Amino acid sequence: MRTILHADLNSCYASVECAINPEYRKVPLAVGGEKELRHGIILAKNELAKQAGVRTGEAIWQAQKKCPNLVVVPPHYELYKDYCERARNIYLQYSDMVESFGPDECWIDVTGSLHLFGDGETIAHLIRNRIRTELDMTVSVGVSWNKIFAKFGSDYKKPDAVTVITPENYRDIVWPCPVCDLLFVGRATERTLRNRGIFTIGDIAQSGLQYMRNALGKNGEALYIAASGEDRSTVKKYYEAEPIKSVGNSTTPPRDMKNMQDARLVLYSLADSVAKRLRTYNLACTGVQIHLRDTELHTLERQKQFSHPVSTAYEICNAGLALLQTHWDFHLPLRSIGIRGINLVPAEKEFQVSLFKEEKQIQNKEILEITADGIREKYGKESICRAVILSDSILGQVNKASVTPIPFAAAMHREQHEEFKKTMQKGDL
Ligand SMILES: [Mg+2]
Repeated sequence: MRTILHADLNSCYASVECAINPEYRKVPLAVGGEKELRHGIILAKNELAKQAGVRTGEAIWQAQKKCPNLVVVPPHYELYKDYCERARNIYLQYSDMVESFGPDECWIDVTGSLHLFGDGETIAHLIRNRIRTELDMTVSVGVSWNKIFAKFGSDYKKPDAVTVITPENYRDIVWPCPVCDLLFVGRATERTLRNRGIFTIGDIAQSGLQYMRNALGKNGEALYIAASGEDRSTVKKYYEAEPIKSVGNSTTPPRDMKNMQDARLVLYSLADSVAKRLRTYNLACTGVQIHLRDTELHTLERQKQFSHPVSTAYEICNAGLALLQTHWDFHLPLRSIGIRGINLVPAEKEFQVSLFKEEKQIQNKEILEITADGIREKYGKESICRAVILSDSILGQVNKASVTPIPFAAAMHREQHEEFKKTMQKGDL
C-alpha cells in the first residue's frame, strides 16, 4: 500500500503577507485588487478577516461594509510564488515524487522514504512543523493510500492540521461528507447526483460501479473509483513535470479599450512580460494567440504562426496587433485582452550574426529588451517602461499589479487545465 500526502498552504496569499509583516496578524487583512480599479475583489484573507465574515471573491467595498477596519493590500504574486517554491523545496526533501496541484498544493508520495523518516503521519507533522518554523506559515496535510483521499484529508481540517485517512476509518470520515467534498465534483455533477438521490460520498460508493456507470458514463465510473478508495493514479516526479506548453498574460484594465490605440498600449505591457518569461525559461514561441472579451462578455480567440522562433515583445506584440486588426473592429469596446506565446521551442542560446536588415533589427530589439530586463531586475519593475505606457495614466496602470500571469500547464489546477485545454481547442469561438 502506498503512503501519499497532500499538503495545502493555508490562506496562502494572506499568510505570506503576514509572514513578511507580522503586524498584519493583529488586524483583519485581505489581499485585493487596487481599490480604485473596477476589479477590486478580495483574493485572500487572514483569520481575523475571515471571522469578520470577509469572503474570497467578493468586492472590496462589500467586505469593508462588514469589516470597516479591514486592511487591504495589493497582491505580490512574485512573493507568493517564491514562498510556494520554498514550501515545495521542503517537500522535495522527503520524496522526489512531488506533484503540484495549483500554486500552493502538492501531492507527495513518501512510500519510498518511510524507512528514513517514519510513517506518513510522522512525515506530515515534520513537514507541518518545518513550514511553521522556516516559512512562518501553516499547512494542512492529508495522509492516505491514494491521491483522492489525501486531498480530502488536507481539506478536512485546517489550518495547521494533519488528517489521516486509513482503510479502517475512511467509511466513518469520508463517506458521511457531501459529494462536493470529493475532488472533481463540481456544481453540475452535484446537481445530477442530487437528482438521483445521491448526497454523500458514501452514497456514490454504495451505489456500485454499474449503477454509477449507467447514470453518468465514464464520469460515474471515475467517481465510484474515487469514492471507494480505489484510485490508483500515481504522483508524478517533480523533475518530470509536463513541459511548459504556453506562456501568456491577460488583463482586465481599469477602463475598457475603445480603439486600437488603447489595445496597443495594453498589449505592449502584456507582451513585455510574456517575452520576459520566455527568455527566463530559455524558450521561444513559434505562434501567438490573442484572447479578447468585449463589454458583453463575448470572447474570441485567434492565433497566428511565425516563420521562425520568437522571444521578443516587439514581435509578439506586433503579431497580436495584426490579429486584432484583422479580427476586431471595435463595434464594442474590449473589456479584457490576453496574449500568449504558443508552440514553444527551446531558444537558441547564441545570437547568430544576420545579414538581413530585418533580422538585424529584431536582434537589436532583443538586446534592448534583455537590457531592460536587467534594469528592472536591479531597480524594480517600474524603473523602465515604454514611453507609450506613460501616455495613458489609466490604461498604463496595467503595467503594475493587474496583470495575471496565466499559470504554466504543469502547475495548473486540473479543472483549470481542462478548461484551458478546451479553450485552446475551440480556437474560433
Ligand atoms: Mg491553500
